[in-house]
Amino acid sequence: MIFDLHSHTAYSDGVLTPSELINRALEKQVDVLSITDHDTVDAYRDLQLAVEAIRLVPGIEFSTQWENTGIHVLGLNIQLASDAMRAGVEFQTTARLQRAWRIGENLEKKHIPDAFAGAGEMSQGGYIGRPHFARYLVKIGKVNSIQAAFDKYLGDGKPGDVRQHWAELPQIIQWIRDADGIAVLAHPLKYKLTRSKLKRLIDDFVRAGGQGIEVVSGQQTPQSTTDMARLCEQKNLLASCGSDFHMPGKHWGELGVFAPLPEYVTPVWELF
Ligand code: AMP
Ligand code: MN
Ligand code: MN
Ligand code: MN
Repeated sequence: MIFDLHSHTAYSDGVLTPSELINRALEKQVDVLSITDHDTVDAYRDLQLAVEAIRLVPGIEFSTQWENTGIHVLGLNIQLASDAMRAGVEFQTTARLQRAWRIGENLEKKHIPDAFAGAGEMSQGGYIGRPHFARYLVKIGKVNSIQAAFDKYLGDGKPGDVRQHWAELPQIIQWIRDADGIAVLAHPLKYKLTRSKLKRLIDDFVRAGGQGIEVVSGQQTPQSTTDMARLCEQKNLLASCGSDFHMPGKHWGELGVFAPLPEYVTPVWELF
């Protein structure tokens, strides 16, 4: 069985529609899929949760910050129509819009006019993320790749790296738990924290009600898998895995393509 519990559609910063994503997951032999768009569950609006041949687990990927580091928390197996999810999504949607406005202002100071409007156009909807600013910067010729846009303007410590608007970590976890979901720390190695800092993050995460970590996030080295699995076991957490698929192509992991979870960890789906 292939469980892919982390993926994105065009409702956040992916490019496929929900049904295109599901069809691709079927092609890739995924048995259980979670669509985990950033701070929104709009992808589920038109979808049947029990599509034949694939099981869909309702999910979300919330943005937050911890000690000045941007952190992502997955909510898996959530009640989509719960008051908690509605409140969480509403708060984060406002935060995201305010943040996009601030990013626009910061870029303006770097002599890039109209970036807020430009990013809005790239996203073709209410949702604006840094990738939409990146696509705009490429379009107007400021940079020649998405990667360069992050390196120069949007990544850690750059003018477009505006974090302070998100809800706090405990609040995010509370929303997930109140929606009967499981809070999973997404891609723990992506934050590039020292080992002691990562352990502190996990301790804070657990104290606030977090229950799992993503042991496998897309294609990663076997050492990373062992490393995260050991940490997961040590901290007595559930293990999750997913591709973090955003779009077809070489820059992002493919749906369902990643190493299996080691046998000694407890998979998060035991609670589904
Ligand atoms: P945001 O949710 O607006 O903070 O944007 C974060 C998203 O930007 C991540 O989920 C990734 O999809 C994307 N991203 C972050 N860093 C990079 C990078 N260096 N290159 C391309 N995409 C990135
Ligand atoms: Mn993303
Ligand atoms: Mn993420
Ligand atoms: Mn993601």
